[in-house]
Parts: sequence; C-alpha cells; structure tokens
Amino acid sequence: MTYPHINQARRIVIKIGSALLIDEQNACIRQSWLESLIQDIINLRQNGCEILIVSSGAIALARYALKLNRYKLRLNEKQAAAAIGQIKLAQTWNEVFAKYDIITAQILLTLDDTETRLHYSNARSAIDTLLKLNCIPIINENDTVATSEIRFGDNDRLAARVAEMIKADQLILFSDIDGLYTSDPKSNPEAKHLPIIPELTHEIYAMGGKAPTSYSSGGMATKLAAAKIATMAGCAMAIAYGKLQHPLKALQEGARCSWFLANNKPYPARKRWIAGSIGIKGILYIDNGAEKALKQGKSLLPAGIIKVEGYFQRGNLIKIANKNKTIIGNGITAYDSSEIMQIIGCQTDKINVQLGWEGPNEVIHHDDMVILPTTIAAANAK
Ligand code: GLU
Repeated sequence: MTYPHINQARRIVIKIGSALLIDEQNACIRQSWLESLIQDIINLRQNGCEILIVSSGAIALARYALKLNRYKLRLNEKQAAAAIGQIKLAQTWNEVFAKYDIITAQILLTLDDTETRLHYSNARSAIDTLLKLNCIPIINENDTVATSEIRFGDNDRLAARVAEMIKADQLILFSDIDGLYTSDPKSNPEAKHLPIIPELTHEIYAMGGKAPTSYSSGGMATKLAAAKIATMAGCAMAIAYGKLQHPLKALQEGARCSWFLANNKPYPARKRWIAGSIGIKGILYIDNGAEKALKQGKSLLPAGIIKVEGYFQRGNLIKIANKNKTIIGNGITAYDSSEIMQIIGCQTDKINVQLGWEGPNEVIHHDDMVILPTTIAAANAK
C-alpha cells in the first residue's frame, strides 16, 4: 500500500490544537515551537505547496488571561473568552509570518458557513482568492457567535470541512498523540498503532472510542468524523504528533503517524459538499423499498418516507436513515419538514391534493443526494 507523502501535496490544511500552541503552565504561546513550525511551512511553500492553517487556542488564551481556570466554561463564558483570545491568536500568527514577509488572513467560520450552500460558496471564494494572493488563511470557528446548537465545537471537523471546501489533497491533524491505536494506548500497553487506514470501517470507529479528556477538545472520535469528511472528498488525512520541534519536517522525514487514505473516486463538487454535511437540521426515515431504490440511484419520493425528525426548510441539508435508524445518506430537501409531514407515505400524484399546490415529485432528488459507501453507513449504525 502506498503511503501519502507531504511532499506530493499541492494544497494542505494543517490543524493545530490549543495544547500545541499554548504552554498551559506558563500561560503563554510556545514561541520556539511555533517558529519551528513556521520554518517548515515556508519550506513547503517554497516547493509550491499552498498551506491553510486551522488554529485553535482562542478560548485557551483568554482562559489564562482572565484566570477562568475551571475546566468547563459555560457557553456565554466561552463566547466571551473567544472574543478576547481570538485577537491575540490572530496577532500571534500574523507576527510570526510577518518576519518572513508572508501575509496572513483571519477567517472565522460558523457551522452555517459550511452547511448553507450560498454561505459555503462565499467562504470558498474568499479563501480561494486569499490563496491566489499568496496569503496564509488562519481559520477558526467563530466561537463568539456560535451557540451550542449551531457549533462545530471542535476544530477537527471544521478543518475537514475546510479541506473538502477548498479541495485540499491533504489534511494534517497535529495532536498530542501520533495516530490511531487499536485502543487507548494510555490505558492499554498492548494497543497497536495503525500507520495506514485504507477504509473507515465499523472496527476503526470502535477504536476511536470516547474522547479522553487529556487529548485535544475533539479527542479521537471527532478525528474519525473528520477523516470521514476528508477522505470522502478525496483528501488524505493524517493524525500526527505535533508537540515536537519542526513537526512537519519530522513527518517529511518519516515520523510515525496514521494516514487515512483518500477515496480515489471523489464526488463532483456539489456532491462533495452534500457528502461532508454535518447535517444537524433533521432526518428522514425511509422504508426498505425506498432504501433499495435510493441505492439504485433513484430519488426519494414521499411514498417511501416513514418518519420525519427535526425542523428544517426547503434547501437545507438533512440526513436519510433506514428503518434500523442507520444513516445511509445525506441530501438537500425540496420540502420543509412541516410539508413532508403532510405528504408522508403518499403517492406522487396525491402531493398537490395534500398540499394544495403543485410541488416537485421528489422530496430529495437524486442529484441532490449522496448515498454513503456501505462501510461508512455500517459504521454509522454503531
Ligand atoms: N475554536 C476553539 C478555540 O479556538 C477550539 C476548538 C478545538 O480546539 O477543537 O479555542
């Protein structure tokens, strides 16, 4: 099996967790580590590779400044901390790159910016322009305006959604662990490191387990969720140990990490966006006949729907689940949830009678739908 190598990449998204950037004990930036990372990035750029950084640390920086030492902050405290810390975070990146005459750009995204098509296209075009201008985008979640219902909450999935959005060929999640193990190596000395993961299976998800609190805020479970988004979009993803000096150079020189291989038949752009959806708005449950039809490339008709969950509007990204409650796909709904309630189970020719107006025959058209690969759908069943 061929391992991806950073030197082959044309566009890389690098995710830096708070624990790497910030020295918790001394409540300051790990300056010499950061300088070493910047040198690595400059070397990669000299080889023609474009770099984007997804950086955490806003909340952590303010937490120290404000002496909010409790482990768990309330949502409003997190929002306030992010507003304070983000200035310092952006300033830090700006200053280190300025030494090399490189211009950085701050981009703060919310879930809505990746899940609503128009916002997504706007964000993508802004990021593309910055790359064309040879700048380095420094991206974080806009934690100040994000509420608990509409948050990524972890930068792993945010980084994957960005990688998918801008068609990166590699995503590197720098962490305080050097990859995926068969179980938690901190509690099980027998745990085996996995250098390459060709496919996300039920077993792989089981290895992610629950996030140990000492790892980055996302833990392994969100890293696997990120791997799903990235690999389905044709982007290889690595989980690598980032705390050492020159972490990228170490990877170039063969440091141990876990590579998740990219799907070699990535979807076209619109379907990539649908496939990577975090899809929090709702779920349509469908019967066995509809599941079979969808897997054969058909559209979803009202007759096959057995249950509607959540409140959503026409044009929203939602999930599709089978009778066993396994998520089998994602799609853009052509109807509001309240309208689907009125036409659930009904034959296509009865839609206008039920609604009182003529709507489309399909609740989700085939062109607006992605049926997940069987292994990923099976892993969803956990
Ligand atoms: N966006 C958060 C911050 O900048 C961190 C989220 C994460 O570390 O995954 O503090």
